[in-house]
Amino acid sequence: MSEKDYFVHETACVDAGARIGRGTKVWHFCHIMPGAEIGENCNLGQNVFVARNVKIGNNVKIQNNVSVYEGVILEDDVFCGPSMVFTNVRTPRAAYPRNTSSDYASTLVKRGASIGANATIVCGVTIGEWAFVAAGTVVTKDVPPYALVAGVPARIAGWACECGVPLKFAGNTTTCSECGKKYEKRGEATVERIA
Ligand SMILES: [Zn+2]
Repeated sequence: MSEKDYFVHETACVDAGARIGRGTKVWHFCHIMPGAEIGENCNLGQNVFVARNVKIGNNVKIQNNVSVYEGVILEDDVFCGPSMVFTNVRTPRAAYPRNTSSDYASTLVKRGASIGANATIVCGVTIGEWAFVAAGTVVTKDVPPYALVAGVPARIAGWACECGVPLKFAGNTTTCSECGKKYEKRGEATVERIA
């Protein structure tokens, strides 16, 4: 067997059957379960849990104390802030266990999206490409691409560039003041990148 091309700290527990891509770093006290697939160049901070069958893309950054439960999919370039929370059962009851794969509602976090510190993502939603979930937000519905959402429950508070800078719309189009990417607003909840 060739030498590992990823890093796992000696206190982390990577179960047999988990797959980890080249250049990925798994820091102190993480636990990766069998069947989990983690892409290349990811960073899993201290005390990150990745459940059975979870799929994580490339270049994903997961900060300290995040549990990625079965049913969650993280596409490439997703950022999960410290101590943010995923769930995977809509109606949990200790007395009526719902703890098999078929009980889990799936949550999809699409490419480039950022989830701020201590936010909660209630299961069964899709967070669109490059969306930005502010710290402490509770997401209960789908989030459109490029939307900046905040509050409890989450509401659209604005829009964010792929580079992370808030977008200011005067008319229907705008240019990012930082990186020059251009966007068009096509309705109250739809923004697309046009250049
Ligand atoms: Zn920008």
